[in-house]
Amino acid sequence: MKKVAIFLENKLPNVIASVGLELISETKRIVSDIDVEVVGIWLGESLTLEQQTRIQRAGANRVILVEHHDLYDYDTDFYANTLQKIAQSENFDILLLGSSLIGRDLGPRLSAKLRTGLTADATKLEIEIVEDKLTLFATRPALGGNIFATIICPRTIPQMATIHPGVFKVSEDYNAHLIVEKFAYESRPLRVNILKRIPKIHQAVDLTKAKLIVSGGRGVADKYYLIKELAALLQVEFASSRALVDAQIAPRAHLVGQTGTTVQPLIYLSFGISGAIQHLAGMDKSDKIIAINIDPNASIFEVADIGIVSDAKELLPLLIKRIKDIKGLEVKE
Ligand SMILES: Cc1cc2nc3c(=O)[nH]c(=O)nc-3n(C[C@H](O)[C@H](O)[C@H](O)COP(=O)(O)OP(=O)(O)OC[C@H]3O[C@@H](n4cnc5c(N)ncnc54)[C@H](O)[C@@H]3O)c2cc1C
Repeated sequence: MKKVAIFLENKLPNVIASVGLELISETKRIVSDIDVEVVGIWLGESLTLEQQTRIQRAGANRVILVEHHDLYDYDTDFYANTLQKIAQSENFDILLLGSSLIGRDLGPRLSAKLRTGLTADATKLEIEIVEDKLTLFATRPALGGNIFATIICPRTIPQMATIHPGVFKVSEDYNAHLIVEKFAYESRPLRVNILKRIPKIHQAVDLTKAKLIVSGGRGVADKYYLIKELAALLQVEFASSRALVDAQIAPRAHLVGQTGTTVQPLIYLSFGISGAIQHLAGMDKSDKIIAINIDPNASIFEVADIGIVSDAKELLPLLIKRIKDIKGLEVKE
């Protein structure tokens, strides 16, 4: 049977990172009319019943479990060697990883070990049978972001790709029998020793869970404080395009797009953002997009549900004043 494997990233302490479940769900959805086994791979401590249920509900048929204390902490060597052994004994047609910090480190190393191809930072996946071969079509922005390229790896397996967290939704609808299978771990000499873990002092913002996002781009560079003020008034998250992150006006944790966070809020309210494909890749799946741009030909209007051609710098103070009026807050002129 054809097989698609998904690396289930273990977010310490023993938590399944959402991206693994997102990839299982999307794989199951796109292979619904092909006979394919969807296999999760989990390294570290044993899986709880609750974790197994989440993997099953997302759509996996089988989980390969490698339990060993060497794998409790992420280690490039241990993880890449173990996944290489599993991939070689299973002959997966396709192997997918999240394009998280770990996935971006592990994916290329694993693909080199397996002498196969990897599409990094894909934003869309399709799987079809082509001449009896299960074929992955992975799409990502290319050539400086001017086009979307669909990439295939026709001669070697597994065909690999890393995909941004948050691009796909986690399904809870499947209920097929889940086989949990253990894979023997082969110990190796340790090359890297983790001496200490230092937790981040400031918890980074989690835009992936935001229901409403107010976002600003270069068009409001000198008025970005109004984007923050509007977001604070509405008690929602603020975000930005890369133009303002590169200019150090907006914090990196608030970047939306190919190199930032992929978001799917109920409403994405954008001010002065042109709609470059790297930005769209991170927000075009929002339920409703409201875009304000002074240029009627801005690309953002192609994905917007509501487009307003206006000077955002004039509109923002008026909007803030109106909301303050409604909330009965004092307006400083
Ligand atoms: C490999 C790579 C990865 C990238 N990753 C990302 C990413 O993750 N996220 C991302 O955002 N970008 C990313 N980029 C950058 C991306 O290509 C664009 O350069 C960036 O998104 C542009 O930001 P912007 O829309 O704010 O600025 P601009 O493209 O300069 O657009 C500014 C917009 O503001 C409008 N405007 C001007 N004045 C006003 C006004 N007064 N009122 C209303 N509108 C006004 C203009 O009409 C224009 O449309 C990446 C690029 C590369 C090459």
